Amino acid sequence: MRRGSVWGKSAYIKAMLAPWLARAAHALPSQCAVCHAWPSQSICSACLDTFATTQTRCSRCALPLPPPLPANLVLPADPTAPGQAQHSPRVCGTCLRQGAPAALGTCLAAVPYAYPWSGLLTRFKFRGEPGLAERLAGLMRQMPQAQTLLDNCALVLPVPLSRERLRERGFNQALLLAQALAPTKTEAHLLLRMRHTRPQSELPRAQRLQNLQGVFGLEPLRANEVAGHHVLLVDDVMTTGTSLQTAAQTLRQAGARQVDALVLARTPDLPD
Ligand SMILES: [Zn+2]
Ligand SMILES: [Zn+2]
Repeated sequence: MRRGSVWGKSAYIKAMLAPWLARAAHALPSQCAVCHAWPSQSICSACLDTFATTQTRCSRCALPLPPPLPANLVLPADPTAPGQAQHSPRVCGTCLRQGAPAALGTCLAAVPYAYPWSGLLTRFKFRGEPGLAERLAGLMRQMPQAQTLLDNCALVLPVPLSRERLRERGFNQALLLAQALAPTKTEAHLLLRMRHTRPQSELPRAQRLQNLQGVFGLEPLRANEVAGHHVLLVDDVMTTGTSLQTAAQTLRQAGARQVDALVLARTPDLPD
């Protein structure tokens, strides 16, 4: 069996059990994953109010935007531009200056990569607590546009790990989030990471794109499955956006009609 040749036996069993464990953990009365209050929702409402306040973010790069101007300072809408929706997604100056539409359309991030979410993500990824997937997916689902994207897309694809990383960790945390968000639309083995790369955060901006050249590909026998479809990428942390952009380019080249992304946490922009 192909998977058996890639993973060790224990990693394979761990990966097979992870979605079941995640559902089981969600079904039981639980402790707040942040403040440990008991019994509680998986993340209690006090912690959500304190740490998951809605922040307006650029709809392309998911970086925070300045708060909107007070209503009395906003210029009246231009009557010659009736197509402009009053509540259209806001885009930051950097993304506006890029001009041509990027391969990736909307990109939504639920929370900043900061306390307490960075600690929860560490538990989720490195200490083998896949039961946190449902809780963290719940944060993603709370974003105002998230459910619309989940409803409208045809396929949900987790950003894949390299074989080396998958063997080391035993599961792909992005896959667990995708399965918690949209179990019937998630395809685990369609988008592939063809080789191991250095973390983007270790590289200067000029080298980040080069680092990911040709890194994503589609399962050769299934490459036509994305053609004409709206695809939603899911990842746990967005650091520079280059991985999501590169994956979106791969999908668009394979004929995807639209590619959007949902991520759990966004880091601040990295220096050049
Ligand atoms: Zn709490
Ligand atoms: Zn932006």
